[in-house]
Amino acid sequence: MLNLVLFGPPGAGKGTQSKKVIDQYGLIHLSTGEIFRANISNETDLGKLAKKYIDEGKLVPDKVTINMLQSEVNKHEQSKGFIFDGFPRTTIQAEALDKFMSSHGTKITGMIALEVPEKELKERLHKRAIDSGRTDDANPTIITNRIAVYNKETAPVKEYYKAQNKFYTIKGEGSIDEIATSIFNTIESIKG
Ligand code: ADP
Repeated sequence: MLNLVLFGPPGAGKGTQSKKVIDQYGLIHLSTGEIFRANISNETDLGKLAKKYIDEGKLVPDKVTINMLQSEVNKHEQSKGFIFDGFPRTTIQAEALDKFMSSHGTKITGMIALEVPEKELKERLHKRAIDSGRTDDANPTIITNRIAVYNKETAPVKEYYKAQNKFYTIKGEGSIDEIATSIFNTIESIKG
């Protein structure tokens, strides 16, 4: 199985690049942000809970997020592999993911991190707010909070994968296709 973690700060282009990788490799895409947003629009209990955190630019609690992700993985037993987008976002989530994958007889192949300067991120999120209507992109205070949470809680997840020699960086600037090509090259070099 090919199991990838696509990593990067809010606005790095994880969603856009995930689509490219899925088309190329036939993986199942699991975006925790998208799953939360679907639950919010369907007004599920999970959605009501997640909304409180998302609207403040905070992370949804680990336990809730981990349970949700595991049940999504379990829906796709026969897949060729997964691309995790927006997960793991804390070291606790990374540890839970490793345990869970190993209980399924598989593992994470690698983490691919998209690197984009903060100024460019803010511009992209502002633009996305206009196109997508995402309320967490529309408010500068929430954006600043998400970037702060990323730096404090999520960036350390890089160290977790570095320690396992599974960490790869990609420059997240340039055209969508150029970035996709860099990602494919990395995948080819690690997939074995
Ligand atoms: P972005 O990467 O642009 O911030 P996402 O769509 O990945 O957007 O996530 C939107 C929001 O959903 C996050 O700000 C956070 O509140 C919540 N969220 C997504 N993934 C996780 C996760 N793994 N753990 C906790 N909260 C999450």
